[in-house]
Amino acid sequence: MKRFPLILLMLLAAVQSFAAGFDSNFKNSTLRLDYILAGNASRQDVYLQEICRTGEWAGRRYHLDSLLLEGNAQVYVRSLEGELLYAQSFSTLFQEWLTTEEASRLNKAFECPVVIPEPKQKVKVELRLNDHHRRKAASMEFVLDPEDILIRKIDGNGLPCKILMEGGDLDSHYDIVIVAEGYTPAEEAKFFADAERLNSFLFIHNPFKEHASRFNVRAVFAPSKDAGPSQPAKGDWKNTATASNYDTFYTERYLTTSSLRKVHDIIGTVPFEQIILLVNTERYGGGGIFNNITLGTADHPFAPVVFVHEFGHSFAGLGDEYDYGEDDIEDPTYPLDTEPWEPNITTMVDFASKWQDMLPAGIQIPTEPGALMKNYDLRRIWNTLNDKQKKEINSKLGVYEGAGYRTKKLYRPVQECRMRINECEEFCPVCCRTIVRMIDFCTTK
Ligand SMILES: [Zn+2]
Repeated sequence: MKRFPLILLMLLAAVQSFAAGFDSNFKNSTLRLDYILAGNASRQDVYLQEICRTGEWAGRRYHLDSLLLEGNAQVYVRSLEGELLYAQSFSTLFQEWLTTEEASRLNKAFECPVVIPEPKQKVKVELRLNDHHRRKAASMEFVLDPEDILIRKIDGNGLPCKILMEGGDLDSHYDIVIVAEGYTPAEEAKFFADAERLNSFLFIHNPFKEHASRFNVRAVFAPSKDAGPSQPAKGDWKNTATASNYDTFYTERYLTTSSLRKVHDIIGTVPFEQIILLVNTERYGGGGIFNNITLGTADHPFAPVVFVHEFGHSFAGLGDEYDYGEDDIEDPTYPLDTEPWEPNITTMVDFASKWQDMLPAGIQIPTEPGALMKNYDLRRIWNTLNDKQKKEINSKLGVYEGAGYRTKKLYRPVQECRMRINECEEFCPVCCRTIVRMIDFCTTK
């Protein structure tokens, strides 16, 4: 018999005690709650369509009753007595649509699958949607009985699945799944090569690079009849595995899918915490929605950098640090009387909750860009600068005006960041801190 040193026995005891929190309330399996979110700009409703039992639970096993970021929506699992057992936050395409003109004159419905660990007992499950003032806009609660015979059992679907990166067990690692979209049966090898390439590009970026051993990445190939996504503005409709399309909300480069159930059916029982839909196209575009889905494209020259930006939204809830400059519009996403929950932008309503603790003493707020920087459109000249110049421009952490689609009264931490321009190679210190916090939150005690 092996003799364990005392320190190892103590460690094992500690592991068992923090695992007990999860194990006392949940099984090592996943329930997929297929919701429908429906309504218009003035009224929203939540409906439950179906519950499925899928594979092993890949989500976090610690901090089960807390949220690192608020998101635009949350799912809460409570005991029948009301004790919070599990919470998860995310955002949805439906809530983005609510900010469009169309939502003021039309009712629409959006699919919204949400995964939770399977409870051992009956629980109350609440899905809550917030408005852009972070107030409750809609919610729906029901009692979930894990013994319900109508919970649909989903078995492995037999689709080819490859492990691209293996940090270790599901419990203490973050699990990403890359799903094929718009690849014909003959393009299976291309998909796995594209997935490998895109994934490698993500993990040359810090802080992902430094924490690469904390991730597992799998890729699932689902064949499509046609190659490439649909392009509605060109009248080009394709028959593909997950029905993705450009021109979402009539925005040319916005590539999304409304068929999230199809995406989840393809994933089947493959463990995941974050979904990347890899779309087989040379065209520019993409999308990223917090704890929901990232869409990246395979073959546009900017595809890898756009993908990393979009993954910043999906993984760490990072907001866009760009504005529209002279084309500034009244965007309702970030009302100026509300502090956004996104960690890297601020209206200064509650700046103490943001990066105030990281600022050097005596920094001017708002921070004036240096004269050189002020006089150039950095996006246009970024690639002509050398590393020293880039570092100098970004060296001063501050509170710079222009972020969240507005030129005025929304602020960002540095001059340039991966969340502001494609040309910038790095995430700013505030984005980096958030990414590290998210990795820790999801994988450690
Ligand atoms: Zn940033």
